[in-house]
Amino acid sequence: ASGYSLLRDPHHNKGLAFSEKERDAHYLRGLLPPVVVAQNLQIKKLMHNIRQYQVPLQRYMAMMDIQEMNERLFYKLLIENVEELLPVVYTPTVGEACQKYGSIFRRPQGLFISLKEKGKILEVLKNWPQRKIQVIVVTDGERILGLGDLGCQGMGIPVGKLSLYTALGGIRPSACLPITIDVGTNNENLLNDEFYIGLRQRRATGQEYAELLHEFMSAVKQIYGEKVLVQFEDFANHNAFDLLAKYGSTHLVFNDDIQGTASVVLAGLISALKVVGGSLADHRFLFLGAGEAGTGIAELIALEISKQTGVPLEESRKKVWLVDSKGLIVSSRMESLQHFKKPWAHEHEPVKELIDAIKAIKPTVLIGSSGAGSTFTKEVVETMTSLNEKPVILALSNPTSQSECTAEEAYTWSKGRAIFASGSPFGPVEYDGKVYLSGQANNAYIFPGLGLGLIISGAIRVHDDMLLAASEALAAQVTQENFDKGLIFPPFANIRKISAHIAARVAAKAYELGLATHLPQPENLVAYAESCMYSPNYRSYR
Ligand code: NAP
Ligand code: MN
Repeated sequence: ASGYSLLRDPHHNKGLAFSEKERDAHYLRGLLPPVVVAQNLQIKKLMHNIRQYQVPLQRYMAMMDIQEMNERLFYKLLIENVEELLPVVYTPTVGEACQKYGSIFRRPQGLFISLKEKGKILEVLKNWPQRKIQVIVVTDGERILGLGDLGCQGMGIPVGKLSLYTALGGIRPSACLPITIDVGTNNENLLNDEFYIGLRQRRATGQEYAELLHEFMSAVKQIYGEKVLVQFEDFANHNAFDLLAKYGSTHLVFNDDIQGTASVVLAGLISALKVVGGSLADHRFLFLGAGEAGTGIAELIALEISKQTGVPLEESRKKVWLVDSKGLIVSSRMESLQHFKKPWAHEHEPVKELIDAIKAIKPTVLIGSSGAGSTFTKEVVETMTSLNEKPVILALSNPTSQSECTAEEAYTWSKGRAIFASGSPFGPVEYDGKVYLSGQANNAYIFPGLGLGLIISGAIRVHDDMLLAASEALAAQVTQENFDKGLIFPPFANIRKISAHIAARVAAKAYELGLATHLPQPENLVAYAESCMYSPNYRSYR
């Protein structure tokens, strides 16, 4: 191969870091200026450049350019500056990128499968240059973050999630495949946008939708085998629950919005209880929002209570109550409830407002998962504080503008007594002379490590017990020092180590359940997980 094409191959390009010997051996003489620099200096320069951009979307585009030019440099940059760059390559900036994807689109970073490809999906998959795929993240773009239907422009999400699989979980970039399934969009703005990149039609539903998804799932298994992980991402809840149920028994599937959220929030609760006291079964949980996030978390809490106490799941569920847009979910509403809400319809008189539900249920833990902002009012937080010495309050709705309350409100209104974490990040808060940090219940704590655990054990199914194992592993990473600052999640700076621990616990569970195919079981799973992780350091070419 010529030196010229080597410089344009993102998998092998090292830019100015090519050594003198490599420049001789690979026909690079003259194609580069004389200086030879170390990868660390390249990192330093790029961070300097990225920080020059004030507009987040410009930072995002700069990162995408680096990914397209020099893959190892991109990942090293991301790994070494994870706290600063996570919000650039993922939420919140990726949301804006998806909204503008039509105009900023330059080169395809994943596969687009539309209704036009019906009957030919296997051939489409074969067009992708890599065959050894371990993780697919797929969206149909119907519920992108809190931004709604972005149709084909949802592609930014699978691309972003998979770059976190690599940076945080150590999955090789070449084993990751981002996919967007385009069945149309109901977003009028996009349908009328001359730069829109997707199918210009309203969403296919019902049988037409189900058939395309089924062809896709069958083709994936046929070409990549049984051990490829398919992560469903940002599907609307009417499809998300059904797809998970339908393919959960035949494929290695995972829904991050339902299961990943549940696992990360359960981890936060397990660690919060170390401060508040009592076991999960001693607490009462009230949710505002009964969708993918809310019912997913609720179910995992109930499952963990059952595991800990031996009480049947139906009984454990009674510790958990949910409020949706129509009020408290109670048995008299059963007939009209969507199926994923039915398990939570307990005996109680109807209650319309959150504040009245709090007074009636007297929860020790309040979780916001509705997507509606400013719903944890002063009265809500004060009532929680009057009921509890240390109320646990999680404001999970994203982005920041939709948060149920801010960290400052939670700490001020509770007079510093709340144990608080949120979906979007908040800075430190000073109250009464003390500084409080608040943790972010970011799904990126869990899914990369979970995926790594599935891959290193060769798991063929995702089991709920693996989600519980991941929660426990994450909670175990929170130190006393973190608690003292008000944190119920560990700092992101150690995320690769955290991922290795999560992977080890998930893999151990896969072996225990007989779902692992990578035999024999490695002796030290943490060390093994670490040894499997992709390193972005340059290799030398001889
Ligand atoms: P979803 O499936 O659409 O569910 C939303 C739920 O909230 C529905 O039950 C809806 O009620 C209810 N709701 C909406 N507005 C309400 C209001 N004003 N009062 C009471 N209930 C209301 O959405 P989702 O996927 O669960 O996501 C919900 C939110 O959680 C989003 O903001 C998302 O960003 C956030 N989230 C955070 C994390 C994290 O922190 N790691 C992870 C995942 C999601 P109906 O059912 O009656 O319509
Ligand atoms: Mn998502």
